[in-house]
Amino acid sequence: MSNESNNKSTTEADINSLAYAQNFDRNDPLRAMREQFSIPKQADGTDEYYFTGNSLGLQPKLARAAVIELLDSWQARGVKGHFEGDFPWLPYHEFLTEQAAEIVGALPKEVVMMNSLTANLHFMMASFYQPTEQRSKILIEDHAFPSDHYAVESQLKHHNKSVDDNLLLWTPRADEALLNYQDLWQLIEQHGDEIALILLPGVQYYTGQVLDMQRITEVAHARGIKVGFDLAHAAGNIELSLHQWQVDFACWCSYKYLNSGAGSVAGCFVHQRHVENTELNRLAGWWGHDKTSRFKMENTFKAIPSAEGWQLSNPPVLSLAAVRGSFDTIKLAGGMPALRKKSLLLTHYMITLINQELGEKIHIITPQDPAERGCQLSLMINVPGLDGKAMFTALENKGVTTDWREPNVIRVAPAPLYNSFEDVYHFVRILKECI
Ligand SMILES: *Cc1c(COP(=O)(O)O)cnc(C)c1O
Repeated sequence: MSNESNNKSTTEADINSLAYAQNFDRNDPLRAMREQFSIPKQADGTDEYYFTGNSLGLQPKLARAAVIELLDSWQARGVKGHFEGDFPWLPYHEFLTEQAAEIVGALPKEVVMMNSLTANLHFMMASFYQPTEQRSKILIEDHAFPSDHYAVESQLKHHNKSVDDNLLLWTPRADEALLNYQDLWQLIEQHGDEIALILLPGVQYYTGQVLDMQRITEVAHARGIKVGFDLAHAAGNIELSLHQWQVDFACWCSYKYLNSGAGSVAGCFVHQRHVENTELNRLAGWWGHDKTSRFKMENTFKAIPSAEGWQLSNPPVLSLAAVRGSFDTIKLAGGMPALRKKSLLLTHYMITLINQELGEKIHIITPQDPAERGCQLSLMINVPGLDGKAMFTALENKGVTTDWREPNVIRVAPAPLYNSFEDVYHFVRILKECI
């Protein structure tokens, strides 16, 4: 190892050396960001190799501080905390709007942090799935996250629409893992006039495939179809321009690449052209009502003409405090362009090492074209007799935290905020040992 550390060369030939990885880390403008996070420890006290930021992001120190500050404010102020202090609770969600908008490429009036992801999908469908006799179908992908699938099926049933007749599935071709656009265009071509809504992921959770949200929105809008995206695996991972792409609505959670803690408050985007339409059907609550008259406690609902008009309840400030600390951490790093820049290098480094060191033994199902992937790589173990699940457990025993998905995929997501190139080097070394 000391030998390797002295070797500063960064040629292709010795890419598989600790020195190469360490050199990358030295030149990484985000290297100091790791200090902003608490990294779980192995039994011997050293840092885990944590590659599960796609499932649950690590704890930003600023999130911890913001939650404690909130607890202290509650302790000291009681109900007066709604109005007092640097971050009063009554408008607490507003402190997050600008940064949330930046993360997803939206105008501030188009976003709000509220509820949970699946709840927001339902609230958005209450507004954007209004089936008619002629247009009643919803198109999703065949391998949609189960919660999304359940939400869509239950919306159909809620409107007394048969699931068999109204649920269209975009399915990968036989023996292929990735979604093929030709098949989507064909579905839209064939059924366009009957489709009310297309709901797709920005990044597919199983394969890590990034979908072309702009093109999909264009093609769907040309046929009069509304388009929503689930950005659970996209927000905080890739750069987004929801406003410019004309997306109708989008929802995302904040506990994956946004590092705000399990079950924390989700995000919601409604395009400008819809937020001002206060007549749009919605499931309303008092926090979506006009702020100047909210406390007159009258019975006539007057929607706020922004995404806030979809809020139901007064903001869950404990969770929002964690989101605030997490957003401040992303801002400290220079925002999404800085994160994405490092992410592309970090994941490319992992792809190169896996291909070079493990060749045919590992099949990466994630697209290798940088435009079609984010942080995450989905790996299939391609060694006869070697069980993927056993492999996952072996990795865990060596301090590597990855994520196993049935039937046979290990997902690894080097997160640019806290993973280092050295982490990636050790991951591939340990993976090779395990195989
Ligand atoms: C993580 C994830 C969910 C989880 O939904 P919650 O409502 O936050 O529990 C839903 N959909 C997708 C695509 C996800 O990746």
